[in-house]
Amino acid sequence: MTVFRCANCQKPVTSEVVPGEPLRGPERPPSHEVVPPRMAPGTFKINFDSSLLILHPDDLPGTALHPDARRISGCCGLAGQDGPNLVCVGCGVEVATKESDCWTDNLAALIAAAVTDEPKTDPGN
Ligand SMILES: [Zn+2]
Ligand SMILES: [Zn+2]
Repeated sequence: MTVFRCANCQKPVTSEVVPGEPLRGPERPPSHEVVPPRMAPGTFKINFDSSLLILHPDDLPGTALHPDARRISGCCGLAGQDGPNLVCVGCGVEVATKESDCWTDNLAALIAAAVTDEPKTDPGN
């Protein structure tokens, strides 16, 4: 089990997750509907260039919506096409992009550089 933490403030941003494989490919039906999540709950997959960690959209309990309304556009969910739309609840740093709209994928992409899976070193922090 791994809990990814904010690299800036050390607050947990993900649920407990384990490495997993996508439930389906990146293609989606052309219809106007929200597709099933790419990843199963509790799993993550590192993307091709190790810059992103792909998770189930509900596995980021330590995040909040971006304060910039332009980042959280979407009609049925979040489009996620205008930059990261989730921030760390602890410090407000951009940590992830959620896509959950009727014409996008359905996933959360954690920014690898913004998080750490190192155990917390200072228990008093
Ligand atoms: Zn829609
Ligand atoms: Zn933080």
